[in-house]
Amino acid sequence: MRSKTKRNGRTPGPDLTCREIVELVTGYVEGTLPGAQRGPFERHITLCPDCDTYLDLSEANQRVLLHRGRARLRQVLEDAFEDGSHPA
Ligand SMILES: [Zn+2]
Repeated sequence: MRSKTKRNGRTPGPDLTCREIVELVTGYVEGTLPGAQRGPFERHITLCPDCDTYLDLSEANQRVLLHRGRARLRQVLEDAFEDGSHPA
């Protein structure tokens, strides 16, 4: 009986294209990317300088958005509590 196991040093799973990286990067940055996709994603990032840069930019962008989102939310809450009247 022949063993079906293939061991050639590659992790199983399809390699991702740059296009797929762009689609998945948000999930990766937000930590919502499924574990099965993190491996191929990180493998592509280490091999592809363009996507590595794109990931850096996305992470920076995400931090800014989070910061702005929190600041905005706080302002909305403060406005809501300050007085009950609706601004025109
Ligand atoms: Zn790439």
